[in-house]
Amino acid sequence: MDLTGGCACAAIRYQISVAGGEVADYCHCRQCQLSSGAPVLAWVQVQPERFRLTCGVAKAYQSSADATRWFCETCGSQLYMTDSAGKSVGVTLATLDLPYIMPPTVHGWYSERIDWFTLADDLPRYSQSPPYDE
Ligand SMILES: [Zn+2]
Ligand SMILES: [Zn+2]
Repeated sequence: MDLTGGCACAAIRYQISVAGGEVADYCHCRQCQLSSGAPVLAWVQVQPERFRLTCGVAKAYQSSADATRWFCETCGSQLYMTDSAGKSVGVTLATLDLPYIMPPTVHGWYSERIDWFTLADDLPRYSQSPPYDE
């Protein structure tokens, strides 16, 4: 299934093709908070060959030794993240055109959660990276 998404100003558009086994998660890590200005970011990981930009060029910010975050330099939307090993591309779920298609099923980096952000779900909580994301 092909899914499309893009930034707030529509200068950058992307497409991912999902096979069905992808896991969507919430990430509470400090870098996700700082790079989004929000208490938590939701992601889905896809294999690099399943992600492509269809319009525009994203700007890169290397947020850690291993991770580069890509965003629109006009509107600031954070769209995706790549790793130095080229293992996967993380796509910000909320930038999908149909974000409700892939509800997150896991919380990652729960140890860095802002404590006023209380959760009402009973999804698994991992204090650091979920096992499939290491
Ligand atoms: Zn934009
Ligand atoms: Zn994070």
